[in-house]
Amino acid sequence: MSSGVDEFDIIRTYFAPLEGPDPRSRGIVTAIGDDAAVLELEPGRQLVVSVDTLVSGVHFPPDLDPTDIGWRSLAVNASDLAAMGADPHWFTLALTLPENDAAWLAAFAAGLADSARYHDLCLVGGDTTRGPLTISIQVGGSVASGEALTRSGARVGDLVFVSGTLGDAAGGLQLLQGATSTDFTAEHEELVARFRRPRGRTELGAVLRGIATAAIDVSDGLLADLGHIARQSGVGAQIGVAGVPLSAALRASFPADVALELAVCGGDDYELCFTVPEAQASAAVARAAGVNCPVTCIGRIESAPGVRCMDEAGRVVGYARQGYRHFGEPGL
Ligand code: ADP
Ligand code: MG
Repeated sequence: MSSGVDEFDIIRTYFAPLEGPDPRSRGIVTAIGDDAAVLELEPGRQLVVSVDTLVSGVHFPPDLDPTDIGWRSLAVNASDLAAMGADPHWFTLALTLPENDAAWLAAFAAGLADSARYHDLCLVGGDTTRGPLTISIQVGGSVASGEALTRSGARVGDLVFVSGTLGDAAGGLQLLQGATSTDFTAEHEELVARFRRPRGRTELGAVLRGIATAAIDVSDGLLADLGHIARQSGVGAQIGVAGVPLSAALRASFPADVALELAVCGGDDYELCFTVPEAQASAAVARAAGVNCPVTCIGRIESAPGVRCMDEAGRVVGYARQGYRHFGEPGL
C-alpha cells in the first residue's frame, strides 16, 4: 500500500489471526509472512482452486456492513468449492482499500474470520493495496483424484435437485434497495440475512461425491446456472416451477408470482443445483439429510437443449430475466 499506511500493521493486526490454529495439521507449511505459501496435499488428491472478485457497487452495495462484506466474500468462494464437491482447505486475500479505516478493517476482518470458521478455511497469504474497494479471494480445496463434481456429467433421465430454498437472497436484495430497514418485518430480515450472509454448502457438496453426476452453485439464478449444466453436459432440462422450494419468508414478503420469479431467476442464494441418476435419488436425499441439508427434486434432464419451465398444467412458463451479466446491464 502506498505511503502513510503500514500494510504490515494491517496484515499483522487483522489478517494474521485468520491463519487459524495448528496450520501444519492442514498441510500448511509456510503461510502469511513469507514470499509465498507452501501447501501440501496428501498423495492421491487433486487440488481444486477458484477465485472470485467482489467490487464495491457491483457485487454488493457500497454501504453494506463491512462485517457482511467480509463474510460474503469468502462464502461465495467456499460455494465454488462446494459445487466441485471439494473439501475446503485455504484461501488467499487480495484486498484493495481506498483508505486505512481501522473500524472498517476490524469489522471486515471479524466477518471474514466468522466465515472462515464456518466454512473451515484458513488464510495463508494475500496482497494489500490502495484503490477502489475490491476484495479478491482465492480458495483451495481438494478431492480424491477423479472425484470432483463438474458441470458436464448430467445424463438424460437424471433428476435435477436443489438444496435449501431459492429466491431469498434476491428478495432480500430487492428489499434492501427499495425500503428502509425500519419498515422490515421479521420475514424481511430473514431474506436480507440470506443476501448478507450466504452459506456455502460445502458439507453437502462433499457428500454428493460419487452420487451427483453434475453440480453447480446457484449464484446467477437457477435458470442461468442449470443452463450451464445443460449446455456443458450436452443435454437440456425441464423443471416444474411449482416444485421449486420457496421459504415461508419469501412467500410472506412478495406476491406469489414475484416470489416464484425471484426463485427461478434471482441469484445470490448459493444453494447447490445438482443432477443424480434416478436410482441414486433416495441415497442423495439421505446423504443430504445426514448433513442437515434439505434437498428438493425440481425436474429432469432431457435430450432437447435448453431449460424449460413448466407449470402444474404442463404449460411452458417464460421468464424474461436470465441471470446477471456483468457486461450486459448496469450494476447496483
Ligand atoms: P511481497 O511484496 O513479497 O508480495 P507483501 O508485502 O505483498 O509481500 O506481503 C507480505 C506477506 O503478507 C506475504 O506473506 C503475503 O502473503 C501476506 N499478505 C499480504 N496481504 C495480505 C492479506 N490481505 N491477507 C493475508 N496475508 C497477506
Ligand atoms: Mg505482494
